[in-house]
Amino acid sequence: MHKQKKSLVQFQSLSSYFSKYKFSYIAGFVCLFIVDAAQLFIPQFTKRAVDLIASGEFAKPAVIKLSLCMVAAMLVISTGRFLWRLFIHGSSRRIESELRQKLFDHLLSLSWDFYQKNKIGDLIARSTNDIAAVRMAIGWGFVAGIDGSVMALALLVIMFVQSAHVALFAVLPLPFITILIIIFGNIVGKRFKRAQEAYSTLSDTVQETFAGIRVVKSFVKESWFIKRFAENNDDYRQASISVVKVHGLFMPMITFLSGFTSLLVLLAGGRLVVLGELSPGELVALFTYVQMLVWPMLGAGFTVNIVQRGAVSLARINEVLDSKPSIQNECSQSSALPRANVFTDQNEPIIKIQNLNFSYDEKNILNDVTLEIANGTWLGILGRTGSGKSTLIKILPRLLDPPRGTVFVKGKDVKDWDLVSLRKIFGVSPQDSFMFSDSIKNNIFYGVKKGDHQDQLTKIIDLASLQKDLELFSCGIDTVIGERGLTLSGGQKQRLAIARAAVSDPEILILDDSLSAVDAETEQHILKILASERTGKTTIIISHRVSAFSNADKIAVLNEGKVVEYGQPDELCSIGGFYAKTVHLQQLSL
Ligand code: ATP
Ligand code: MG
Repeated sequence: MHKQKKSLVQFQSLSSYFSKYKFSYIAGFVCLFIVDAAQLFIPQFTKRAVDLIASGEFAKPAVIKLSLCMVAAMLVISTGRFLWRLFIHGSSRRIESELRQKLFDHLLSLSWDFYQKNKIGDLIARSTNDIAAVRMAIGWGFVAGIDGSVMALALLVIMFVQSAHVALFAVLPLPFITILIIIFGNIVGKRFKRAQEAYSTLSDTVQETFAGIRVVKSFVKESWFIKRFAENNDDYRQASISVVKVHGLFMPMITFLSGFTSLLVLLAGGRLVVLGELSPGELVALFTYVQMLVWPMLGAGFTVNIVQRGAVSLARINEVLDSKPSIQNECSQSSALPRANVFTDQNEPIIKIQNLNFSYDEKNILNDVTLEIANGTWLGILGRTGSGKSTLIKILPRLLDPPRGTVFVKGKDVKDWDLVSLRKIFGVSPQDSFMFSDSIKNNIFYGVKKGDHQDQLTKIIDLASLQKDLELFSCGIDTVIGERGLTLSGGQKQRLAIARAAVSDPEILILDDSLSAVDAETEQHILKILASERTGKTTIIISHRVSAFSNADKIAVLNEGKVVEYGQPDELCSIGGFYAKTVHLQQLSL
């Protein structure tokens, strides 16, 4: 992901959210300011009470009136605090949730190359820890910043009105505090970024370890992974402690400076009281105001800290949001619309590949591939491991992007297809099929709309030869399978993947090495049913076993990214190439 500005500018990206919740924020800040005003009144009541006591007239009605005023102020403060929290924190929670949803939606739109470059653990960290830091910034951070500034201003005005001489002493430490805030803000930002990165690494390690738990266990590598986790954990601890250290140093410094201010006010104000220029009540009020000034100072530090962290986290989120999917619709919406009859000529091949070259990085994986597949063909693809078979079939639905003018589906360049419509033509059972931790039924039907699937279900269970397996499961088709299909055998997983690919009865069905873990009898059963169900429809089967090609009309042999043989199985047998040799070898081994 490219470099980003890591400052307050980041918050501009949230402007649409702020404008959406502006009334909530405004209501929240109004409540907050009412609370502030009520708080500012309290020292005035104390002042009157002290002066009343000092004058020796402790009249009951006056005391009751003062007490009632104080209770009223307290009530306003409590209600106001509840309301501003509801409005402001409510909005920040809503923005947090919408931002997280936007991030997730965007992640789903990104192509394979993004996931090749970015680790899942890091993306999880961005969707959790970083989003939480942003929420803190736009909740507490903004409250502390705005409220702190308003309070500081109001306090200074009141203090100057009350006694300009004493107030002057109270503002003496303010320039130092401002400098401190700026310096600490920068340090916190840098250290927090390192802490978040360390958290991402930690999250990656956890994610990878558990994704590969079978490998970890079977190779007895637990201790190695525990050591790796401990190192990452240690790294994160150190990075977090380095944040705590600056934060921990900052707060006591502010408290010290504010204590120092109180001392100055006591000295300056006390002298004025002795000289009779200030009443004792006024000094007490001034003293309380100085104490109250601690909050804006702390608030400023808190804001800098939290907003700085939020900006760092938002930059990490924006990095993802600014990444563009490398594969996207290139056609205008209007040209993408009429889907069904793209064929002008019914004899035109359903798939046409012309001089296709493809590489993931520098090395060419597919070299000048040219292939025409007529509608309704059963095509078998054979080739040594790494020869580019999976790559070739991933290009057809544009899971990988071919150059323009090289791959045509139903007579139209894949680049001109609307991506969703193009992908709906295909049903693919990939080589590395993935199962979700959900019921078997949901794992099959993810690909099609919900509704009454009973007929379809019976048919598909028969097609994938799943009947016997389902009888063994406690809840049949509703059995929930473990994460990534952990509770299924290799062959069961493969057949489930076939069912998932075939359930929507796609125009082109692709099975990439989907029968390798299935016994010969089941394989033939599946192929037989597929043959009867898919007459007239195109089916592509990739396999290392020629028995999987029993229905094939055509066979293509790939070698180092080139189509080296293409024709009917009998023809290929007679030319004595790779296919013929494979048939011969596999017949011998029977
Ligand atoms: P197999 O029979 O083992 O499934 P295959 O013919 O399907 O092999 P491909 O998966 O198409 O082979 O891989 C062809 C080449 O492309 C291999 O050398 C592989 O290392 C490389 N390759 C595959 N996927 C990627 C990727 N995402 N990034 C970089 N290189 C890749
Ligand atoms: Mg493959």
